[in-house]
Amino acid sequence: MGKWAWINLTDRTVRVEPADRAREKDYVGGRGLQASLIADHVLEHGPVKDPLSPTNRIIVGNAAPNDTTIPTAGRGSCSFIGAMTRSPEPASWLPGWRPLAGLITHSSSGGLFPNMLKRAGFDQLIIDGRAEKPVRIEAVEGGLRVVDAEDELFETVNGRKVIRKTSEIIDFLSGRVRGSATVCAGPAGWNLVDFACLTGDYHRNFGRGGAGAVFGSKNLAAVTAYGKQTPSYAAPEKFKALGQELDRVVKASVEDPSRTASFRPTTGTTWWLDRAFNGGYLGVRGGYLPWHNFDEGEFDPAEYEKVSTEAFLKIAGKHAVCNKCRHIFCTRTARVESGPYAGSGVRPEFETIALWINCCITDRDAIFHLNRLANELGVDTMTFGSVMAGAMELTEKGFLEGYGSRLKFGDAQAMIAAIQEIAYQSSDLGRLLGSHSDRVISELVARNGAAAANDILYCVTTAFGGLGYAGINPKAFPGMFTAYGTSNRGRGDHTYAWTIQAEEAGLKGAAELAAYVAEGQTGKALVDSLGLCDFFTADVTAEPFLSLYEALTGIAHTPESLKACGRRIYNLERRVNSIQGRDRAYDSFVPPKLKVPLSRGAHAGQAVDEAVYNAILDAYYRYWGWSEQGLAPEK
Ligand code: SF4
Repeated sequence: MGKWAWINLTDRTVRVEPADRAREKDYVGGRGLQASLIADHVLEHGPVKDPLSPTNRIIVGNAAPNDTTIPTAGRGSCSFIGAMTRSPEPASWLPGWRPLAGLITHSSSGGLFPNMLKRAGFDQLIIDGRAEKPVRIEAVEGGLRVVDAEDELFETVNGRKVIRKTSEIIDFLSGRVRGSATVCAGPAGWNLVDFACLTGDYHRNFGRGGAGAVFGSKNLAAVTAYGKQTPSYAAPEKFKALGQELDRVVKASVEDPSRTASFRPTTGTTWWLDRAFNGGYLGVRGGYLPWHNFDEGEFDPAEYEKVSTEAFLKIAGKHAVCNKCRHIFCTRTARVESGPYAGSGVRPEFETIALWINCCITDRDAIFHLNRLANELGVDTMTFGSVMAGAMELTEKGFLEGYGSRLKFGDAQAMIAAIQEIAYQSSDLGRLLGSHSDRVISELVARNGAAAANDILYCVTTAFGGLGYAGINPKAFPGMFTAYGTSNRGRGDHTYAWTIQAEEAGLKGAAELAAYVAEGQTGKALVDSLGLCDFFTADVTAEPFLSLYEALTGIAHTPESLKACGRRIYNLERRVNSIQGRDRAYDSFVPPKLKVPLSRGAHAGQAVDEAVYNAILDAYYRYWGWSEQGLAPEK
């Protein structure tokens, strides 16, 4: 739409300016543009030392393809310095520790909001400062204003005024602006839980890294958008013809049973459950579905059946997809008919389920219920899963005595209680576990004595600014561990690069794995910057996409020039992270637990090998042209 809004919440000023066309050519859109705007901020003001202070900048926006007919063109971007990925307090328990102030984080979300923001006339909302009292933002029909957050958006819980559940906020604001779409912080974000997300459409989230907490720290409750503007096209007829061609490419990929895209309309992401457990769905052997806080990758098959791909298919209903999704259609509603968790919602995603299986939860209906609660409270399901698994082990070993922890592997009820205590910060346990991991470890070491430090650290795989590992146990996959370890948005992220299929097919060798990870990271930077979904099946650096992009924007790219944009974006993010304090010490940290071999399953005997990993890291830095210490150069 060619318009960016600069919003300073401290003095409630709004400045709407034309988009920077040169920057759009170099950084594409969404994630790339936002990275460049955050880099400007960090270069001008220095590192954002506290992500929950007014100095953090958060940007919500979209990209040129959004709201067009391109399949999956409904994914928006949100970027900020993450709250979970920090390690600011001296950590004597960690060799090589140096302060880390939080990493540049990009979060992608679908739903309607990103496209509705575009229809309202805006590409990016660049939000700085902190409002003195609770506010919200309205972007409606080309206008933008900061308004006081209504009393109706709040309630009193345990004697404290706190924002309502996300569905209530969305319903209220839909009533205020008919036909609008909203993203909002839930109670967890309002209470500054470091892994709080932003929620739109009741179940779509800017999930990882703590965007909800950044909203909360700014006294910003929600952003609501409404409009009827349509995208403009540099060459409309050409776009239409090429759009039909691209549509056929995506459709064919979904109809090809040898492609994993063919499972998505039915199983969504949950096909990975069978793949990770036993090699089902075009896999090899499985044995890497995390179990008991990443101790194992396999467990009792009879228990697994209760939470398998098939088990979640049994509660799945009709599709509930993002705006402008076509063919791939990964999301379905879900309904549990009876029992304590009866109700309607959406089928949880693979990563959510896997990380709750990692807590030894094999009650499908409880997982469905917890997923609904996480959406209502604004909690990132993935980091929550990692935090829970760690807390269960800490409880087992006696380190959470005095916090009233009833957490226990396999106990869904205790998790249901804990998510509420965390979101509402209503107990000592909730206050402890809602913090980034290094604060948790420091507090427990202070209570239990320095001699206990290693035992405490052993339980916490999110230590040292980790985001939390995703739902693949990485012990047998050095490439995936590298993807986790080097992701710009923090240790444990799986979306910036993904190696499992390639490693199962035999990819190995330090240089080969490093290049594969780096190329994946480049490609993902592009897909995010184009406002598309991870599951988009066409190559954005090839025809017909390149010509389609030119017909849309008037910007011509060759495969090489667009790939160069992806590398530029990834490099710039790394540069920001270097300023924020990230270097090799962060990348090379291996949680002690992951060095212990799997004891059972297809990969028994395997663990993360530090020497192998460090060799891959050397090759990875060489690939990018970074220093041996992992620092990205200034240019
Ligand atoms: S494939 Fe799934 S996540 Fe991607 S755009 Fe479609 S519904 Fe959304």
